[in-house]
Amino acid sequence: MRDVEERYRCPACGAAIIWAHNNSRRGSVSEIKCANNMTSSRVDWIPETAYICDWKGVAVRRRNGQVELYYMNAQRRLRPFKTRGKE
Ligand SMILES: [Zn+2]
Repeated sequence: MRDVEERYRCPACGAAIIWAHNNSRRGSVSEIKCANNMTSSRVDWIPETAYICDWKGVAVRRRNGQVELYYMNAQRRLRPFKTRGKE
């Protein structure tokens, strides 16, 4: 059952957050970044019109196995948007 899906948006520009946390170890941390980051690989990248945003943060694996996203200093949690998932 996945009624509710958590979606994150960049706090700086509102674009999607690119993150993939494959490490299942508790307390593991990985870097996350805005979809508008220059280093984000995008197939629809158009240099002339692209908005560039250098926002970055971190993904942290919690004790309960859930992944939470934080601002770079890990002091502030990034709030997810709860959306109704459609199968
Ligand atoms: Zn952004």
